[in-house]
Amino acid sequence: MTGRTAITGLTKEELESKILELGQPKYRAGQVLDWVYSKRAKRFSEMSNLPEDFRTNLDTQYIINPLTPVKDDRSTDTTRKYLYQLNDGRYIETVIIPASIGQQGKRSDRNTLCVSSQVGCAYGCKFCASGLDGFTRNLEAAEITGQILAVEEETMKKINNVVFMGMGEPLANIRNLMQAIKIINAEWGIGIGARHITVSTSGLVPQIKKIAEQPLQIRLAVSLHGATDEVREKIMPINKKYPIRDLFDVLDYYRTKKSQKITFEYILIKDINDSLEQAEQLSKEARSLNAKVNLIPYNKVDGLKWERPNERTQKDFLNVLTSSGVQSTLRKEKGHDIEAACGQLRLRKEKQEVST
Ligand code: SAH
Ligand code: SF4
Repeated sequence: MTGRTAITGLTKEELESKILELGQPKYRAGQVLDWVYSKRAKRFSEMSNLPEDFRTNLDTQYIINPLTPVKDDRSTDTTRKYLYQLNDGRYIETVIIPASIGQQGKRSDRNTLCVSSQVGCAYGCKFCASGLDGFTRNLEAAEITGQILAVEEETMKKINNVVFMGMGEPLANIRNLMQAIKIINAEWGIGIGARHITVSTSGLVPQIKKIAEQPLQIRLAVSLHGATDEVREKIMPINKKYPIRDLFDVLDYYRTKKSQKITFEYILIKDINDSLEQAEQLSKEARSLNAKVNLIPYNKVDGLKWERPNERTQKDFLNVLTSSGVQSTLRKEKGHDIEAACGQLRLRKEKQEVST
């Protein structure tokens, strides 16, 4: 642990007041931010238009990016996962979905980054790798923004979309999430438009209400995975706390506050949630909320028993939705390695260390 504060977790106003405390004029904050986000300086010593004693001062109290890239032997060309070590020795993973592949297997000219919001996850969805080892801690805002900066540096690619679909439940870390989103969205910061930032949640009702009431037009994706309590409850323990009716009520409220559509993510798991009755119920609910549906064939997780249904079943399920007028997509096999990795991140590095 360095004990130093990460600049990349501060808003411009916060940095200005810290800089005033260091006895420097406020406008220095703009200069520092320009070095960090536009020029991508790695060290304070590079910030040549700042007085030398101020640079030294900054260096003793601050760091720029709290993440340390780790060479990850398991990473292949197709998965493009990046592993980072945090200051307390923990690890997180981030996945890039490059422009040439794009989301839902379609070609796209945008690079999407799937970021983690927590180390582990407390919500224990039965099918999910991230929840398998339980929850360790929330990520700091700078550990979230740092994923984008570090991947841009490693890949030399500009990230155009950010999806909070990596490890963790972003709305369970709402304070640091919103702080990070402010920085990701700001002109003086990473500069990604709110409509290109998607928060995915397993359905934390009070926090969805908070998101609805804040002004940024970020997108919301809801991991539904079951259209009735009976089915959803089997695979998502959170459904006991916030059953489907409460979830849909808050989503209806969300809709009144925002101008963009909600997306339902629906993993298709063989013999669990892939029946035509579920498809019909899902169509009904999606229509009443004017929501889109992303169907995702389940990706197998080592040690878990769940399987994906065959292609026929996947297509039949999709047809029920599209024929009733619901805007829906089914993720193609192509590129599924990458899509799979997003939402399947796990603390394997820690396990490896423990077992060696
Ligand atoms: N906690 C949040 C965001 C992280 S999970 C949430 O649950 O929405 C991101 C997405 O990946 C979720 O829709 C999740 O259900 C999905 N996911 C998890 N494991 C998966 C798997 N094995 N195959 C396909 N999608 C998976
Ligand atoms: Fe957590 Fe989301 Fe995985 Fe559920 S699906 S265990 S909420 S990361």
